[in-house]
Amino acid sequence: MQLKNSTLFRQAALVGSEWIEAGEDGIAVDNPATGEILGRVPNLGAAETKAAISAAEAAQKEWAARTAKERSVILRRWFELMMENQDDLGRILTAEQGKPLAEAKGEIAYGASFIEWFAEEARRLYGDIVPGHQKDKRILVMKQPIGVVAAITPWNFPNAMITRKAGPAFAAGCAMVLKPASQTPFSAIAVAILAERAGFPKGLFSVLTGSARAIGGEMTASPIVRKLTFTGSTEVGAELYRQSAPTIKKLGLELGGNAPFIVFDDADLDAAVEGALIAKFRNNGQTCVCANRLYVQEGVYDAFAEKLSKAVGGLKTGNGFDEGINLGPLIDDSALAKVEEHVADALSKGGRVVAGGKRHSLGGRFYEATVLADVTPAMAVAREETFGPVAPLFRFKDEDDVIAQANDTEFGLASYFYAKDLARVFRVAEALEYGMVGVNTGLISTAEAPFGGVKLSGLGREGSKYGIEEFTEIKYVCLGGI
Ligand code: ADP
Repeated sequence: MQLKNSTLFRQAALVGSEWIEAGEDGIAVDNPATGEILGRVPNLGAAETKAAISAAEAAQKEWAARTAKERSVILRRWFELMMENQDDLGRILTAEQGKPLAEAKGEIAYGASFIEWFAEEARRLYGDIVPGHQKDKRILVMKQPIGVVAAITPWNFPNAMITRKAGPAFAAGCAMVLKPASQTPFSAIAVAILAERAGFPKGLFSVLTGSARAIGGEMTASPIVRKLTFTGSTEVGAELYRQSAPTIKKLGLELGGNAPFIVFDDADLDAAVEGALIAKFRNNGQTCVCANRLYVQEGVYDAFAEKLSKAVGGLKTGNGFDEGINLGPLIDDSALAKVEEHVADALSKGGRVVAGGKRHSLGGRFYEATVLADVTPAMAVAREETFGPVAPLFRFKDEDDVIAQANDTEFGLASYFYAKDLARVFRVAEALEYGMVGVNTGLISTAEAPFGGVKLSGLGREGSKYGIEEFTEIKYVCLGGI
């Protein structure tokens, strides 16, 4: 991996103020495009987690005592350092995650935008003065940092899923102990190196690599940790929820999705195809807001299927470092196996391949960009998140029919639909049981907007003015004798 600034790639973890280098027994991290070992990170556990939490507890008090502007200036500097090093951070990300370099650099800008946004929001964490209930009393409401926060993040956005949590946490005056996914720790470590350079006080931010069970176990058991913020699968989220019960932690959970993408008869079909490419194939289909089920109204089904297949045929799969690549590899062998199973299941139940449909001739973890037609609710793709480059096309009759099908899932993160009729736009947006709805667009995530889900897709919102509230506690002060 060629970097302009090689000090950003470090085979170490940060525990409190101490860097721990990886030894021979460290966890190997590979490049999913080639299988090549990029390096190792330390295999840490409960003892190091405890030490990091304790350092965070001490650092948090001093950090919270600073003015919002002082915190804001340091966060702003962190944002600027990320953007100055966008190229190197993008390269580290592509090497360990596989997404095309242009997309990786896009993620760095997107990730950094949360730090920029919350550097600004830090100074607007206002309280309230509420009209009192008695003549001699006044009611004050203040927002205070929740304290030490633990974060567990996934491999699909190795940078942005960290910054979306760290930005509001640090802005509000919290400390953070982070466990990144073992597939993609180097992006997290690079971000911590830049945090040090931005002037973070020692101990405020730790990055622990190692056993998910041991680190997660200590994070959830610790009474010092007041909030756990997690992005990952619903299964692990539920387990962390259970583990956090005895210490009554506040939880932020961004879990799985099963996003519907609906194309009505009155939609602009070319725009819908463009939106579907972004919503379905971005990050090779490995995002929790990826369209998982594409519902197309009868009258435009064949035309849409043809246009989408043509567009998908133009997507280029390969090593993310090569020029002109749109889709990288899947993250690991089990991700590849899941995609294969979903396609085989659909074909065995009457589905039809209209593009792709098999492992890519490149071998390894590459799978062809795929479109399946004649898909029905009986197939696995209807219920489970495929997390790969497969677009299954369902047919529907009318609005009521598609809303019932779209809502027939235990998940409720993102949803999308294409339509022109204004009354329909409002009806459908209101009827979809999802935390987020994209209307005539396939790309909705941004620092300004509240990201989050309902049902088994999670708890809480990230980004936006609402995102910072999640890292605060409300304190009510009753002033008497006035
Ligand atoms: P994905 O399906 O995206 O790989 P996971 O939920 O398996 O999502 O993993 C997301 C993150 O949660 C990763 O950092 C992983 O190491 C961590 N994780 C997995 N299992 C546990 C656990 N039992 N306790 C704590 N963290 C876990």
